[in-house]
Amino acid sequence: MAVTVSVVTVKKKTNSKNIMSKQPITMALAGNPNAGKTTLFNRLTGARQHVGNYPGITVDHKEGFFSHDSQQVSITDLPGTYSLTAYSIEEIVTRDFLTGQKPDVVINIVDASNLERNLYLTTQFLEMGVPLIIALNMMDVAKDRGIEVRHKKLSELLGITIIPIIARSGEGTDELITKAIEIAKSDRNWQAMDITYGEDLDESLLEIIASIKNQQFLEDIYPPRFTAIKYLEHDDEMLRKGQAVDPLLASKLEETVTKVSDHLQKTTEVYPEAIIADYRYGFIKSIVRQGVLTHKFDTDRLYTSDKIDKVLTNRLLGPLIMLAILFGLYQFTFSWSEIPVSWMEGLFGWLGSVVESTLPDGMLKSMIISGVIDGVGGVLGFVPLIMFMFFGIAILEDSGYLARVAFMMDRIFHLFGLHGSSVMPFIVSGGIAGGCAVPGVMATRTLRSPKERIATLLTVPFMNCGAKVPVLVLLIGAFFAEHKALYMFLFTLLAWFVALVAAKFLRMTVLRGEATPFVMELPPYRFPTLRGLLIHTWERTWQYIKKAGTVILGISILLWALMTFPGLPQTTQDQFATEVTVATTNFAKQPDLLQSELTRIKQEQSAARLKNSIAGKIGSFFEPLSSFAGFDWRTNIAMLGGFAAKEVIISTLGTVYSMGEVDAEDSGSLGDRLVKDPNWNRVVAVSALIFIMFYAPCFVTVVCIAKESSWNWAIFSMVFNTVFAFIASVTVFQIGSLF
Ligand code: GDP
Ligand code: MG
Repeated sequence: MAVTVSVVTVKKKTNSKNIMSKQPITMALAGNPNAGKTTLFNRLTGARQHVGNYPGITVDHKEGFFSHDSQQVSITDLPGTYSLTAYSIEEIVTRDFLTGQKPDVVINIVDASNLERNLYLTTQFLEMGVPLIIALNMMDVAKDRGIEVRHKKLSELLGITIIPIIARSGEGTDELITKAIEIAKSDRNWQAMDITYGEDLDESLLEIIASIKNQQFLEDIYPPRFTAIKYLEHDDEMLRKGQAVDPLLASKLEETVTKVSDHLQKTTEVYPEAIIADYRYGFIKSIVRQGVLTHKFDTDRLYTSDKIDKVLTNRLLGPLIMLAILFGLYQFTFSWSEIPVSWMEGLFGWLGSVVESTLPDGMLKSMIISGVIDGVGGVLGFVPLIMFMFFGIAILEDSGYLARVAFMMDRIFHLFGLHGSSVMPFIVSGGIAGGCAVPGVMATRTLRSPKERIATLLTVPFMNCGAKVPVLVLLIGAFFAEHKALYMFLFTLLAWFVALVAAKFLRMTVLRGEATPFVMELPPYRFPTLRGLLIHTWERTWQYIKKAGTVILGISILLWALMTFPGLPQTTQDQFATEVTVATTNFAKQPDLLQSELTRIKQEQSAARLKNSIAGKIGSFFEPLSSFAGFDWRTNIAMLGGFAAKEVIISTLGTVYSMGEVDAEDSGSLGDRLVKDPNWNRVVAVSALIFIMFYAPCFVTVVCIAKESSWNWAIFSMVFNTVFAFIASVTVFQIGSLF
């Protein structure tokens, strides 16, 4: 294949702002998914961005700062892409960032162990003309696989500085940044490189370029040749921009493109996009073959990852192993964390008794015990469990196994009208219990078909997010203590089942349409680093703790107030006072009986007070309806609180069931209290579990759904989920009560 490379210079639009001023240099990190961008970003900035061993986790770009040899640098971690054609959000985000922000230098992270494929994106940076430096990452992986990359030769051929690095250990990153700063400061103009695309296309490219130059069409954003190529590639985003800027010329260009396309169709039966891709790969091959790349080992030797995959993603064995691994995760989390959880319970119990004995009776004491300690403590008590869960998930994720889970689940997903890429949002939302629907909803951005995307974002809240887990653990622990892990596992399967069936239902009704095909790369298996695992575990746990300390504390106190005020009317108070006087005279000679009689009156009084409170009234208002599902007015209060955040369910149950009591000593843990309560039993527990799992998403998720789609869908999701959950709970309760 003939490769002609010539270089044209494009006006640089930004001034030489960085030369003299103290302003930071701006750098952008770009590359394929999983090339190691975030790892490098974190290493440079000391940030703890999420590093994932699967595609599609960085959708927005993230900015960070650091200084190198007293030079301030602002660096942006762009989402991973395979190309710069607007096929997906990631590609658009990356392209718009580069053309809009015009960073002083772009660091293109290239996975040395997967060189040819990664260079595909590089060619497009070259065509765009951004000031570029290549960070040749994963040198350790390449070496292990017997791949040798002669980076000096490659650098010569491409005319680009290339620095080999190992982002994970930090090797070479110092030199990389030194060189990148040099390039940024050199204030070189954007230089676009030409790659030839064969006679037919080159000819129409020239024609299009001429028209573009003539009218300075989009020239302030893209080099003319880049625009022309995107037109030939039928890039929607570019076509749209063109129409907005100069509809007349845009239509003319589109006509030219249609003409070549038709011509190519007649002669070769392929579209320009395919030819362009072929030539790009040809360009890469021709470079790589010139002694850049050698495999030391037998090339058809199976890489370790492929060998492992032969077993782990085997059609029969794969799913079985997956279930076993996931079940192991549950066993690990729910059995091993029991002891530290009991320590936490003990700690908060002790705190409560200290406050009980030191503070005088009154509002403040009631607020601290019922609102703060029982509420927030109930949530914080689960911190050890959450840590175990996140640690387990981090192992699956960092090792690369999570991507295999997605890969295997893809087969099932298609049956339900979802896309393979939906798997990730589901897993992130708590498909392996313990995620969060908010990033889950955002992760749906990687889906290209709008209908599949909405079906996904409406059903991810059915997963058992980290906030629901403690509620599940509490209820399962209290009512099904013998088989905790098993029940947790079953409820996880149930969440998946319901989410998929609901998706299928949506795809057959309001979101009817075709399914789109799926391709997904499996990243190679990697041994997770302890540091990475700990960072992952900690950052997620910290989020949980932070939420308990802020949002939940606030809601907890608010709910306490709703449950406390307006208090009992004077006449009722007098009645209780009279009862006390009567009892005191009647049992004056029997102190034991008197004591129990006084306790009974006090209990009745606080129950009456709770029932008369604002929250109690709301709860009672719904009781006639909710009793079909077995919920009394107190449970209703908790469910209402759950709209704000699911964690609040626990804290509210904690508060509700501690306010009905008087004696802190014999009240026991919340679980014990529920078991003893006449309104609760196993059937009610299952009914409540089902309702909690499936009713309206929490407030934050709803807002997020609205932002990602529309308020109509957000409201739809609240109504649809709640109605569905209620029907399911009623069914379970009514049938369960028969036995
Ligand atoms: P991104 O998608 O480009 O942001 O990639 P990440 O930074 O999330 O990295 C993907 C995976 O590759 C993670 O598991 C990293 O720990 C791992 N990784 C990154 N750089 C290196 C490296 O130089 N060597 C090895 N062995 N692994 C790396
Ligand atoms: Mg990333």
